[in-house]
Amino acid sequence: MSKFEYAPAPESRAVVTLKKSYGLYIDGAFTRPKDTFETINPADETVLAEVSQASPKDVDKAVAAARRAFDEVWGRLSGAERGKYLFRIARILQERAREFAVLETLDNGKPIKETRDVDVPIAAAHFFYHAGWADKLEFAGLAPTGGVAPRPHGVVGQIIPWNFPLLMLAWKIAPALATGNTVVLKPAETTPLTALLFAEVCEQADLPPGVVNIVTGDGRTGEALVEHPGVDKIAFTGSTEVGKAIARRIAGTAKKATLELGGKAANIVFDDAPIDQAVEGIVNGIFFNQGQVCCAGSRLLVQESVHDAVIGRLKRRLETLRVGDPMDKNSDLGAINSRAQLDRITTLVDAGVAEGAERWSPDCTLPARGFWFPPTVLTGVSQTHRVATEEIFGPVLSVLTFRTPQEAVAKANNTSYGLSAGVWTEKGSRILWMADQLRAGVVWANTFNRFDPTSPFGGYKESGYGREGGRHGLEAYVTTSTSAVTTGAPR
Ligand code: NAD
Repeated sequence: MSKFEYAPAPESRAVVTLKKSYGLYIDGAFTRPKDTFETINPADETVLAEVSQASPKDVDKAVAAARRAFDEVWGRLSGAERGKYLFRIARILQERAREFAVLETLDNGKPIKETRDVDVPIAAAHFFYHAGWADKLEFAGLAPTGGVAPRPHGVVGQIIPWNFPLLMLAWKIAPALATGNTVVLKPAETTPLTALLFAEVCEQADLPPGVVNIVTGDGRTGEALVEHPGVDKIAFTGSTEVGKAIARRIAGTAKKATLELGGKAANIVFDDAPIDQAVEGIVNGIFFNQGQVCCAGSRLLVQESVHDAVIGRLKRRLETLRVGDPMDKNSDLGAINSRAQLDRITTLVDAGVAEGAERWSPDCTLPARGFWFPPTVLTGVSQTHRVATEEIFGPVLSVLTFRTPQEAVAKANNTSYGLSAGVWTEKGSRILWMADQLRAGVVWANTFNRFDPTSPFGGYKESGYGREGGRHGLEAYVTTSTSAVTTGAPR
């Protein structure tokens, strides 16, 4: 993972002050908590806080606030002024990095070294990057005598998953605000806390009320947002199943949508690959964030001649991984986010074994309480097995083999998804050929899981449509308006 600048090491959970219960953040103020549900620490199943389940009426209020803010304030500000707010938010995120890292780890279960070195710094980097774009967009379009100008959609409804709660929020809110839209965002029900802390950051940055609204709740809140006639665009990240349901729901409307959905990436290792580097890439590819990553390298395609050498090395490396307390900065793997997710992983791994795969995990003692799954390697997997076709979203690697580059491409592309892929080889020409042949939104060569705000991210096929990051990501938040002005002789 690339690392971004300043993020001091969190020492303990004492850096966060949890309230007993949280309301919604609408029109620049927190509502009184009502109809609450619990969010728990998946590492030990203790209750962290009660959080409000937003009703359709609450969503209505949030959309009305976002509309007012768009019409009266945000839609009228110059890009440079919007940029100033985004810079301010980015700096506050850095200043409060320890708090965000600890809260994210408590609510999500991922290791503190990941929230500290990856989630929080990259979230801040997204706000810095998009702050810089805010005035460049107007340069491209606000010619007073006509032309083609980018214009914000208006009110954007944003729905995000639990695997990178703060980072997905940043991917969504930063480009929306930079381009002049206002936002109603719904975090996932198992990880709402950093979005609510982000609401405090909006207040601290003096963001005008209504520009960002946070409504917590489960899928019903998401549905209310999707169906609301006052929402101009939906930006969704989550499962392919829910993404398709959203696409069906908005099919009868003219609402715009971008869908960032699931994946089943192939990490392809050729016989000439530097083996130690490749093994590190395989480990990062599937065990980072316990494999709960849309672009996780969950299928290892290894050239037959080096299968035993790669798997032997991989197993020795996995023996050294530390699984345990996510708040311990030495932990490499933390907890699975929820019992439902743990059950899903267990069911799929059992199905893999029933279909003939061989299961292996290193010796590790898992904590007695909480949701835990050991790093797992499934060898002898064939293309038709469920573990080769379905997204497991857990620390489970399915191993398949190939003989030729053509066979590697055919197997890698034999999936309904198309989000990412990895290629490990010393041959430059082979990398270029593979990158051209692989049907994936991002292809990493001799590296994996590299994210940067400048690079568009998104999928082919059932991994969704639209891109996030870079100039392409901004395009999803603007429409174009053409104005023609006749120029007669001055009178
Ligand atoms: P999910 O689809 O269950 O939930 C995602 C969000 O949608 C949550 O906030 C949830 O409350 C909401 N939701 C649920 N039902 C809804 C409905 N009917 N209408 C509107 N909203 C609804 O996904 P998840 O389990 O939270 O996340 C895991 C999935 O997200 C995986 O499939 C993963 O691959 C995908 N993901 C994709 C990307 C990407 O960039 N492509 C990034 C991260 C995660």
